[in-house]
Amino acid sequence: MIFKCKNCGGNSVYHPEKKRMWCPHCESEDSEELIETEVMENCSNCGAPLEGVTEHTSALKCTHCGSYIILKERVEGKNRADLILPFAVSKEQAVEKLKEEFGKRLFTPDSFLSYSTLELMEGSYVPFWLYDYRSDVDYEGRATKVRVSRSGNTEITETSHYRVVRKLKIDFERIPVDASTRMEDDIMDLMEPYEYQALLNFEEKYMSGFDGEIYNFEEEEGEERAKQRAARDSEQLLNSTISGYSTNTTVHKNVSLRKEKASFALLPVWVYRYNFRGKEYIYHVNGQTGKIIGKTPTDKRKGFLYSATLGALIMVLCQCVNWIVGVL
Ligand SMILES: [Zn+2]
Ligand SMILES: [Zn+2]
Repeated sequence: MIFKCKNCGGNSVYHPEKKRMWCPHCESEDSEELIETEVMENCSNCGAPLEGVTEHTSALKCTHCGSYIILKERVEGKNRADLILPFAVSKEQAVEKLKEEFGKRLFTPDSFLSYSTLELMEGSYVPFWLYDYRSDVDYEGRATKVRVSRSGNTEITETSHYRVVRKLKIDFERIPVDASTRMEDDIMDLMEPYEYQALLNFEEKYMSGFDGEIYNFEEEEGEERAKQRAARDSEQLLNSTISGYSTNTTVHKNVSLRKEKASFALLPVWVYRYNFRGKEYIYHVNGQTGKIIGKTPTDKRKGFLYSATLGALIMVLCQCVNWIVGVL
């Protein structure tokens, strides 16, 4: 399926800054019409075979005519997302963020921020499972408070004993686990936080202009990661309620976790793939907050040219730059 402009027949897309549908050809707003086609293999606009469709693809750009196509059967039934966080950062804004972040770095290759390579940046909706968990924490400990005072030459140590009892009921809402095997887990963890209050009920129009995937694995398979996170946070919350004692020994502790529900959600990411000297570097920009994840490549030849001119001093600087870059 494809959103077409009623005025000019162009491909209407969702505009993150305007927060509405927009036609890039005649610039009219909210003029879209959904054209549904049953065929998965061909572009709904030009009919050319769609390239790069995997078993999980739900939306993509036609490499032939440049239209953004949404695959009908991947937004229906069990494939349909419950929630979507529409892009709030436009491509232009994502490009600006990259320029701000990397533009001033000495050894960033020239082509890295060139218009022609940045043009290839694509927005992608990454599938997530969001889990709600109820945690019941039952805790008992033996604690002491020790007070030392002085009376004349005598030091008096006064020890008070406490029985510490805690019963916590904690509701965790929307613990995120990314459901894309293509996207590395640690990348998506670094992309956080997303502001989940901006989640909306899924509608096809938000996908127009972007790539998308359905979940790559079932909800049960992602549960363990969400559960571990709920357990860890439960412990932290429990510990934060026990303070001010000199000693504390646990007598009994039980954290029981129950899954309440899981929702399939799509979260926005700008993806910039940059090839440099045979190696691919991938940058991600959070499509809601603009946060950037990625290591900058360094042009060693450029570095060498500088070092040849400036001598020993630049070699030290070069190492520093590499190190700082390495930990980003
Ligand atoms: Zn138009
Ligand atoms: Zn096409």
